[in-house]
Amino acid sequence: MSQALELSLTCPQCGTEFSAEAHTIVDMGNEADSEALWQLQNGTLNKIECPNCQTSGIIPVPLLLNSPEKEMLVVFAPGATQMDEMQLSELISPVLQPYLSNLPEDQQAEYMFRPIITDDPTVLQRAALGEINSEDIMGDASEYEEDEDLEGDAADSEPELTAEEQQDLTARMNLLQQLFQAGDSLERISLMRSQSNLVDELYLEVIGLITEQAQNAQPELIPTLQKMMNEAEVFIASNKA
Ligand SMILES: [Zn+2]
Repeated sequence: MSQALELSLTCPQCGTEFSAEAHTIVDMGNEADSEALWQLQNGTLNKIECPNCQTSGIIPVPLLLNSPEKEMLVVFAPGATQMDEMQLSELISPVLQPYLSNLPEDQQAEYMFRPIITDDPTVLQRAALGEINSEDIMGDASEYEEDEDLEGDAADSEPELTAEEQQDLTARMNLLQQLFQAGDSLERISLMRSQSNLVDELYLEVIGLITEQAQNAQPELIPTLQKMMNEAEVFIASNKA
């Protein structure tokens, strides 16, 4: 589902106005995008030349690359490093949101909701060539997070839950959030004590799931999550005794 926009541009050198086609999506899993992919690999996608003075450059539009094989969604966002989260979202969302919502359900994957943002066109090019993995990019690019809270994520990944199971899960997510806001271990333990019916195997699973998600999205939360996991394990063990 390659997507192209017809844009009218003004040459920064000579002021000539001309129109050009800009691609915003290249899906490596889609045969129809093979030509756009090939251009991206060659560094010629979205490359334009002024018909008057031959000044050339890359059209500054967001470009989304889906690599199902590497399980990564890379978004080239020109100027991303100079933007705050809000500006970045305004730049990317018009491309990202329709792409995700138009994708058939069987092609949707969890990694797509954790796109990797880069403002380096060579990173995108190397990703198109299959030369790099998400771990390689993470070093010099920031990860963009969808405005979904932790609760929404867990619910989305388990679509076949019954209403009751969903309730159980939500209750534990709420507890987890309360514990997160607690200042220290003592406060967390007294919170667990007051809701000890929620501190069980399912609760451990919830922490495990959130820890997994945080690994990429918010690694700074990991130490706290690990502490919370330990405390919960100890709590469960001591309650059984
Ligand atoms: Zn020109």
